[in-house]
Formats: sequence, structure tokens, C-alpha cells
Amino acid sequence: MLDLDKRSITYLPGVGPKKAEILQKEAGIASFEDLLFYFPYKYIDRSRFYSVAEITGSMPYIQLKGRILYFDELGEGRTRRLVGKFSDGTGTIDLVWFKGLAYVKEKVKPGVDYIVFGKPTEFGHTFNIAHPDIDPVEQGSQVAAGLTPFYNTTERMKKAFLNSRAIQNLQYTLLSNLQWQLPETLPEKVLAKIRMMPFGEAMRNIHFPDSAEKLRAAQVRLKFDELFFIQLHTLREAQQRRRKLRGIPFPRVGDYFNTFYKDYLPFELTGAQKRVIKEMRADMASGRQMNRLLQGDVGSGKTLVGLLLMLLALDNGCQACMMAPTEILAQQHYATVMGFLKDMKVRVALLTGSTRKSERNKLLPAIANGEIQIVIGTHALIEDTVIFSSLGLAIIDEQHRFGVEQRSRLWKKNTRTVPHVLVMTATPIPRTLAMTLYGDLDVSVIDELPPGRKPIMTLHRYDNKKAQLYDFLRSEIRKGRQVYVVYPLIEGSEKLDYKSLEEGFETFKEVFPEYTVCMVHGKMKASEKDAEMQKFVSGEAQILMATTVIEVGVNVPNASVMVIESAERFGLSQLHQLRGRVGRGAEQSYCVLVSSYKLSNETRKRLEIMVKSNNGFEIAEADLRLRGYGDLEGTRQSGEGVDLKIANLATDGQILQYARDLAGEVLDEDPELSTQTYRILNERLKTLFARKVNWGLIS
Ligand code: ADP
Ligand code: MG
Repeated sequence: MLDLDKRSITYLPGVGPKKAEILQKEAGIASFEDLLFYFPYKYIDRSRFYSVAEITGSMPYIQLKGRILYFDELGEGRTRRLVGKFSDGTGTIDLVWFKGLAYVKEKVKPGVDYIVFGKPTEFGHTFNIAHPDIDPVEQGSQVAAGLTPFYNTTERMKKAFLNSRAIQNLQYTLLSNLQWQLPETLPEKVLAKIRMMPFGEAMRNIHFPDSAEKLRAAQVRLKFDELFFIQLHTLREAQQRRRKLRGIPFPRVGDYFNTFYKDYLPFELTGAQKRVIKEMRADMASGRQMNRLLQGDVGSGKTLVGLLLMLLALDNGCQACMMAPTEILAQQHYATVMGFLKDMKVRVALLTGSTRKSERNKLLPAIANGEIQIVIGTHALIEDTVIFSSLGLAIIDEQHRFGVEQRSRLWKKNTRTVPHVLVMTATPIPRTLAMTLYGDLDVSVIDELPPGRKPIMTLHRYDNKKAQLYDFLRSEIRKGRQVYVVYPLIEGSEKLDYKSLEEGFETFKEVFPEYTVCMVHGKMKASEKDAEMQKFVSGEAQILMATTVIEVGVNVPNASVMVIESAERFGLSQLHQLRGRVGRGAEQSYCVLVSSYKLSNETRKRLEIMVKSNNGFEIAEADLRLRGYGDLEGTRQSGEGVDLKIANLATDGQILQYARDLAGEVLDEDPELSTQTYRILNERLKTLFARKVNWGLIS
């Protein structure tokens, strides 16, 4: 082994202490291995030359061949610049430098043939290229033939002369020092199956592509590698956990479950609800510990599924708890559960941060001795003072608001066994992402809404048409409906955001003097917030204006209109979540997306998707395609995100599936990866996951 991960980048010729520090801080490159895995983010075909006459607006990077006629130094201070008039015989274009003027004049001479490479920008009626790459023809034709890689660099890197070209040079130095040879990462047996390019050849071609075909093959191989090792890691963790952890067996379906199901459940379960309950019952009866993610669109009836499973826990002599991310949501769950169970003998308690001390002092012992069977609450549930006598099932609602660390603390509530864990989320995590993030979590999906729901009608309106919007709202309120109006709250511009909410509040009070308008936002005290919220829940107020605090979980079936102000500032998933607050009653519901007229293409697409689709999964997939996976809400909690260097979950679903299947086969054959054949994989996993936390155990 070359131990490339242990060889510091400072040992590479051309990298001094200062550059090493910047590489590490800005690009995370500390070792030889880190450098090799710092892949180009794009390639540009430099085999083709354009002529100046061909240049039009909106061109990508292009390559020209010609000479500089003369230089001009123009402007002063910050606008001081060097302009080279460049001609290739078909026309002229300005090459512009704002920095390093002396250096350029020293290096670049008029009258000599150069190859110029850069992105033309339109400037008045002419074009120019700022800070082009420029090489004399003999040299240029050698250095820059074919596909040229581009590496991400930051301002600080560029200042330290670590631009894309410099990174490429470092790759060159490193690979030549290694004689362009790298050891294979996969065993022969796997290689023979996948028939992909060898690792070393792939690394060489990713940085210095021989051809477009070779580059594609290299990308496939390296994407496969990346996904394969992640899958191998998560699947192995999951196996080990399964062997180690015993779950509490829930073999019985008893009185609690049956009585509720037969006598008190006010409606028929949907097919999807029945299916997921069956899946989870199978888990919990098996003696294994259940660790499952339940995905279902807003309003698909997850809470009810949770309740049925909690009753199953009671039937098997255990307690159950349900944890929600906010006080309001916990209260709502409590009210819902109490409503469903009001005629049954089940002791349910609510425990949140604002539970009074005297009340807590009564609750805690009753939880500890098992008198209280179901506890619903917030983070307060995971405090050390909360001890259960026999916690059999922990349900976590809207998982993405909980940190990994907090989830793991739930497990410590029992000493000998761990409770079954069910994580419920309405943020539809696309399948590919779920497999990577939660490779060891089983996933159940509710893909059907309860019958009789009318699809929400979504409209997009520009904010200069407010009068019509007000008319529409008034006509809905006259029919007895209630209206949400939501404002964005973006980190960094909170002040402005609160201001626009407050201004909106004043406007609405003026426009709707005959109705009651209430307001909630994150800066209010919990008690104030609850009081305002209560006005809306009770129907006293017809209009609720809010920042995104209402995003999660509030259930007011009579509210049938959701107005989202500055909709262009919300992400797709968030818009979908907000829309899910309406459409819960029998009435036709509406979601009105209000935006300014000026929208970027991407934003326009986002709003179009919302208008077209009511399907959370479709929307999540579209979100993934539009934004890439990295920004998806809830997936980038620190330390939890999977840092992919080359694979793209939005587009590489097939490679991921293949990698997962093969990883499974390998582990079936050799669970410990200890045989001669597979030992190499174990070594590689150690290198790759040395510093990573063990997410398998805690997700
Ligand atoms: P989620 O938690 O998935 O957003 P909820 O469990 O809050 O959804 O359910 C939304 C609403 O639908 C609730 O009022 C609930 O009582 C109702 N509901 C749940 N399941 C059914 C069903 N099978 N048939 C009719 N209504 C249902
Ligand atoms: Mg819910």
C-alpha cells in the first residue's frame, strides 16, 4: 500500500507551508489522497478553435488563436486595467486584466501568436474576455490540447496562486511522482464482475483525460467506487448492529390495539397505512430491533399509524413515546391522541419544556413506575431525569429537526434492550438519498392519501395584483374558511423579514377591518405565540399571519387557503410542507404563491412545479435535480451529511443501486471481509471511514 492518505501534501514539490495551509483550509486537501480525490468539476473541450467573428452573446468558454495588436492601460484605482486588442484576422476582441498588469505585460508580447482561452462577456456592443488563459502557440498546443479540467478554487486560493491551472499542475507532479500507477481498490473478483476501468487508469483519466470516452469510463468507475464503499460501510454497520442488539419482541396483538381498531377508529385505514403497519409489525415481532423510517406526504396519516403502533407496544407490556420538534406540534399530537383514546383506559401524558415543575414532579415518577403508558413531548423527553420503566417504542416525528445526537439519547432510556425506533417524516427524501444516508434504516412509505381529499389548487400570482388576491380571500372567508399568510424568514435578513411580516400584518388589518387577524413569529414568547395560535385554532381569528414557524404540523381543518408571500425565496420542499397545512377538510383548498415579477429561470421552474404537482415525492425529486442533493433540507446536518466527491445522487441512481447490490453480495459471502479475497476492502474502509462517526448506530 502506498498510504497516500498518510502522506502530507507538504511533501509534494511546489507546495510550501503557506500553500499547504491554504489547500487544507479552503479545499480540505491535507494528504496526497485528498489531492487525488479533488476532482475537476467540469471539462472544456480545447480541441476546437473559434474565430472572433463567430462570437455571440451567452457563449461558454472558447479558444481563439491570434495575436495582440497593442496594449492600453485604462482607468484608475479600482478600475485600472490592461486591455490587449486581440485579432485573429476575422475581427478584434479586447482581452482585459484587472490584476497582475505588470506580470502580463512582461509575459505577453504583441505580435506573437497566442492561444487565448476564456469566457466572452458582452460589454455594450462589443465583447471582451477578462483574465484569459494565454499561451504561446507552440507551448499552448501542447499543454492545452483536448479536454481541459477545471477545479474549484476560492478567492484565497487564487491569491496564493492556486488557481485551477495550478491545481492541475499539482496533480501532474503527484501522478508523475507515482509513475502514473495507483494500486487497485477493488478485489479481482469484484473487478471481474463490474468490468470497469482499473482504478489507476480512472484516476489518470479523471485529471488528464485521453479522450471523452475514457473520461466517461473513468467517471463511472470512480462514482462506483465512491458509492460502493459507502454502501459496504452502512450495510456492514447495520449487520453488526442487528447481531448485537436484541429488540423487545412484540408478538401479541391484544386488547388495546384491537379495541381501538374495532370500536374507536372513526374511519377505514388506507391501503398504504395497512401495508406499513404490517411491515412494522413484522419487524417488531421478529426479536430484532426495529429501526425504520416512515415517509409519507403531509396529511397521509402518519400520526395515526404511530398511534396504532404505540397501542401495540402497550399490548406487549411496554410503554411508548412520541417526540415532536416543537411545543405546538407536541400539544397538537397530545390533543389528537387524547381525542382518539378518550373512551379507552390508557394513561397518556404530555411533557414539554413548559410543563410546570409541580406537574413534572408528578409525571416523572409515574413514567418511571410504568403507570403512564404513553408520553408525548418535545426535547424534554430526552432529558436524563426522564426514566421509563419499560420503553418499547420511540416515535420521532418530523425527524429532520432532531440532531443525530438527540436521537441516540432516546436509546439509553432502557439499559438492557433498546426500544424500537420509528422515525416519521413528511420531507420526502428521494429513494437514492435515503439509501445513502440511511442505508441501514428500513424505509416504509405511505404513498396514498385518505379518500375524499380534494387536491389543493395551487396558483401563482405576482405581487402587483394584491387587490384581486384580497377579493379572493374575502370571498373564501365569507364562506366560513380561514386563511394562512406566510412570510419567509431567511438567516441573515431576519430583521427585514420581520419587518415585512409586521407591515403585512398592518396592511391586512386595514384591508380586513371586519375580521380578526392574528400573528405568530419566532421572536414571540412561547406563551404569546400559543395565545395567538389558539385564536386561530378556535376560529376566533380568520387570518393567521406568520413566519415559517407554522411550517411543521399544525392541523386546522377549517383553514383552506395558504398564501405564501415572497414564494421565490422558499425551497421546493418548504413550499410543499407549507401547502400541506391546508387541504385537510372537505372543502376545496387553495395555495397562492405570491412572487415578484422578476424571477430567475430556476425559480420560475420551481413555482411551475408547485402549480403542476401535488405529489411530495415528485417535488422532492425535482428539487434534487434543480439544486443538487447538497442543499436538501435536513440532509446536511453537521457531521451527518455524506460528502460525495464525484457521484451525484440526482443522476447516478442506477450506479448506486448496482453498488448496493454488489456490496450486499460481498457481505453475504464474507461478512467480516476477512478472507484473502476481500481483505483489501476492509483496509480501504478503514482508510475511508477512519474519522467518520458511526452513523449506523445512531440514525
Ligand atoms: P400526517 O401526520 O401524515 O401529516 P395525520 O396523521 O395528521 O397526517 O393525518 C391527517 C388527517 O387525516 C388527520 O385529521 C387524520 O385524522 C386523518 N386521517 C388519517 N388517516 C385517515 C384515513 N385512513 N381516513 C380518513 N382520514 C384519515
Ligand atoms: Mg404529522
